[in-house]
Amino acid sequence: MGMRSFVMWFMSAKTRAAAEAESRQWIATCPNCGTQTSIWDLGGLRYKASGSPSIGFRCPKCHERGMHKVAWRASA
Ligand SMILES: [Zn+2]
Repeated sequence: MGMRSFVMWFMSAKTRAAAEAESRQWIATCPNCGTQTSIWDLGGLRYKASGSPSIGFRCPKCHERGMHKVAWRASA
């Protein structure tokens, strides 16, 4: 059981749906190729959060490891 599953285990179904929807709107942009991946697709969870953090991981497209800038995309 991953960290996300552990956290979501404590949530109601309604909160879970909201957390998923919100996590899908946090987009990490690759500094090398510009590919945009949602936090949810990365297996992460970002709920009731703010700010613009950067997270380091290997891009699924160009396979370069780098700091991805995370930004809120409310239109998704
Ligand atoms: Zn990339």
